[in-house]
Amino acid sequence: MVMQPECLDTKMNSQSPTSPIILVLYGDDALLDWLRAQGCQPFLSHSLEHAPAEIAALRPDLIWLDIRWRSLDPLIELAAVCAEYAELPILVCALDEQIEAAFAAGAADVVTDSDPDSVRAARLKRLMQTRRRILAAQDDAEFHARRWQQAFARSPVVALLVDANTSEIVDVNAAAVRFYGFSADHLRSLRLRDLETTESHKLTRGTMRSYSHRLASGQTRDVKVFASPIDGIDRDLILMLIFDNTKRREAETAEIRQRTLAEALSHTAAALSSTLDMNTVLDRILQQAARVVPHEAGSVMLLRGSIARVVRSRGYTSLGNASAVNELRLDISKIRSFREVMATRMPIVIPDIREYSDWVTVQPTAWLCSHLCAPIRWGSRVIGFVNLDSAIPGHFTQTDADRVQALADQAAIAIRNAQLYRGIKKQAALLERRIQERTAELDAERGQLHAILDAMVEGVAFVESVPDTPVVDYPIRYVNEAMITLTGYSIEEWTANGQRLFKTPYASEHEYVAVLNKIHSAALEGKTWTGSYKMKRKDGSTFDAFETVTPVMRPDGSLIGIVSVLRDVSDEKALEQERMNFVANASHELRTPIANLKTRLYLARKQPEKLDEHLRVMEEVTGRMQRLVDDLLAISRFQRGTIELRRTMLQLHTTVMEIVALQIPEAERKQQSLTWQVDETPIIVYADAQRIHQVITNLLTNAINYTPVGGRIEVCVCRRVRDQTTYGVIEVKDNGLGISSDDLPYIFQPFYRVTSSVPGTGLGLSIARQIVELHSGFIEVVSSLGKGSAFSVWLPEGVEPHQP
Ligand code: ADP
Repeated sequence: MVMQPECLDTKMNSQSPTSPIILVLYGDDALLDWLRAQGCQPFLSHSLEHAPAEIAALRPDLIWLDIRWRSLDPLIELAAVCAEYAELPILVCALDEQIEAAFAAGAADVVTDSDPDSVRAARLKRLMQTRRRILAAQDDAEFHARRWQQAFARSPVVALLVDANTSEIVDVNAAAVRFYGFSADHLRSLRLRDLETTESHKLTRGTMRSYSHRLASGQTRDVKVFASPIDGIDRDLILMLIFDNTKRREAETAEIRQRTLAEALSHTAAALSSTLDMNTVLDRILQQAARVVPHEAGSVMLLRGSIARVVRSRGYTSLGNASAVNELRLDISKIRSFREVMATRMPIVIPDIREYSDWVTVQPTAWLCSHLCAPIRWGSRVIGFVNLDSAIPGHFTQTDADRVQALADQAAIAIRNAQLYRGIKKQAALLERRIQERTAELDAERGQLHAILDAMVEGVAFVESVPDTPVVDYPIRYVNEAMITLTGYSIEEWTANGQRLFKTPYASEHEYVAVLNKIHSAALEGKTWTGSYKMKRKDGSTFDAFETVTPVMRPDGSLIGIVSVLRDVSDEKALEQERMNFVANASHELRTPIANLKTRLYLARKQPEKLDEHLRVMEEVTGRMQRLVDDLLAISRFQRGTIELRRTMLQLHTTVMEIVALQIPEAERKQQSLTWQVDETPIIVYADAQRIHQVITNLLTNAINYTPVGGRIEVCVCRRVRDQTTYGVIEVKDNGLGISSDDLPYIFQPFYRVTSSVPGTGLGLSIARQIVELHSGFIEVVSSLGKGSAFSVWLPEGVEPHQP
C-alpha cells in the first residue's frame, strides 16, 4: 500500500502517541501485521527513492529496513536522511553476516531471522522507548527555544546578550534596536563599553546597576541594567536587561525639586512669618531661592518710583563685587527686562544675555550669562524683583522661573509685613520721641508752674474731686510754698489732713462742712467762690484770709477738682484801717482850725475893736492849716509815688551842720545844749538836698519839742556798714520824754501822736520815713520812756545815679 503524503498526514494526525509510526522499507504484509500486532502503525515505503519525502511527511518513529540479500547502500542512504530527524532510528533486518556492517552503516539495532519474535518485539520496544525519550528531549529543546525566543527576541524589555569575558555584544532584541537606534548588526559589532558614557563596571551577575548609555541620536539615557548569566552554553554569556531609567530619574528629580520647592516655600513661609525684621526677611528670601534654584548670585530689589535699588544680595561677595551690587540703583523704565516683567507681571528667563538685545550690562555683574527675574507682586502692583544670576548660559528654565515666582509671591507678603512693621516701628519711635518731648515740655511747664506757684505770695492748694466721697474728705494733691509759710503746716500735714486745715478758728465742724459744700456746689456749676475769714495758723495765731476757689473742669464739663488761692489780707485790712483813720484824723485836724476860724470871724464881727488880735489868730490858724494841707498833700504824693526827687551828690557833714545851725536859736530858747559830731572823712550821698533837709529838721525839731528845758541834744554824722552796704548815718539823740514801747511801733503812722502837750500834726515822722525810703534808706528809733530817744537816718553812701 502506497500512501500519499496527504493521507500520511491524516494518518499522522490520527496517530495516538502510544502507537509508534514505522516506515517499512522492503517488508511484506506478514511483517506489517506483526508490527500492528506489536501496537505500531506500519507504513510500507514506496521505494528507497521516496523514502526521504515519506519520512518528512510521516515523521515516523522508526524505519524498518530489510537488507537481507541486499547491499548496505540503502542503509547508508537512509542513515543520512535519518540523521536530520534527530537520529531517527533504523531497525535493520539482516543476515547474521551483515550484523556488524549494518551497525557500522548506521543501524540502531539489528534483528536476524534467527531471532525469535519475542526478541524482535523486545528490540522493537526498546528502540521505540529510546526514540520517545529522544523526541521528548527534542520537544523540550524546542519549547525552551520558543521560550527563549519569547523572553529575549520578542521581549518588550531591551535585552542584550553579552560575552562575559570580552563584553562583546552577541545578540540584541528588537526592543534594543528600537531603544538604541542602531541596527541589530551594528549593535552586534559593538562592545558593551561602546554604549556606556560612564566608566565601565565589571559585569556582575544577578545585580542591578545604574549606567548612562549612549544612543545613536547622541542623547544619553540613565539606564538600570540587570545582568544574569546564561548557563549551559559553551561561551560565558550574560543576558543584560536594560531598563530606561531616564524618565523615572527625571520624574524623581522633578519630584525632588517639587518637594524642595514645597519645603522651601513652607520654610520660607515659616521663616518669613517668624520675623518682621526687613533684612532678615530679605536674607531668608535669597537663602530659599538658592535652595529652590541653584545659582551663583542673587539679589532682591525694591522699587521706589521707577528706581529699583538692591536692598539685599547673596553670592556676589565671592565674586568680589558685593558692595558695587548693593549700591546699584537702576531706572527700570530704561531697562528692557524690567519693562517686560512690569508689563506682564510674570517672571522672565534670559538664557543668554548676549542674545538678548538691549541688555544693559552693569559693571558689577559683567560676568553673568543667564538671568532670571521674578516680580515681587503686591496686589496689582510690582514692589520689587528677585534676581538670580548665573555664569552658565541656559542655566535657568521656565520651571525655575515659576518656582522663584512662587517664592517671590510669598516674599511679597513678608516684605509688605516688614515694611508695615518698619512703618509702625518708625511711627512708634516718633510717637515715643513726641511723648518724651511732650513729657519734657510738661515737666518744664510743671517746673515753671511750680516755680510760679512757689514764687506767689498767695497760698495755692489743689483739691481733687473724688466721686462718692464726702466733700470734706476730698484729698489735697498740691500746696505751694506760700501756703506752707502762711499756715505753718507742712506738705505732709496738708496731705494727711486735707481741707480740714482750712477750718476757721470760730466755725464748728458742721458749719465748716456746710461752707465746703457750698464751695463745691459752686465749683460743680463752674462758678468761682470767694470768701474772707480768719484763718488759724498751726501755732494758733490767726490772720485775715481771702480765699478764691476756682473749679478745674474736664472738657466734658465734669469736675476734676478745685484750686484754692488763699491771700493773707491782714496788711491790706490794716492799711484800710489806717486809711480810714487817716481820713478821720485829717478831717478832725482840719475841723479844729476851721472851727477856730469860724469863731474868730464871728468874734471879729462882734468885736471890731479886737479885729487885729482876731486876724492874727486867724493868720496863725490859716498858717497851721496851710502846713497841715501841705503835709497831707506830701503824704498823698508819697503814697501815690508821684514825688520826684532832685538828687545831687550831697556832702552830709555840710548839710547837717547847716540844719543844726538853723535850730540852735530854738534850742537856746529852751536852754538846751545842742552839740554835733561828724566823722573826719566826708560822707557823700546821692540825695534830694531839700527832702533830706526836711527829714533832719523834723527829727531835730521833735528832739527840741519833746525834750524839756535844759535838756541835751546830740547830732552825730558817721559811716556804718550793714548787710554789706555802707551807709551815711545821721543820728539825732535827746534825753527828753522818750516813747513807750507800746507807742513806739506806731509813731511813723500818719497822725499818730503820743502826747498832745506839744502842738503838732503827727505827720512829720510819717513823711520823714517815706522820704528816706525813697532814697533806698531806712529810719530807726531807739527810745525809752522818760530817758530819751535816738532817731537815726541811714542813707546809702555814694550811690551812683540810678538810671532806669
Ligand atoms: P508831731 O511831732 O507833729 O506830733 P511827728 O510825726 O513828728 O508828729 O511825731 C509823732 C509823735 O512821735 C509825736 O507826737 C511824739 O509823741 C513822738 N515823738 C517824736 N519825736 C519824739 C522825740 N524825740 N521824743 C519823744 N517823742 C517823740
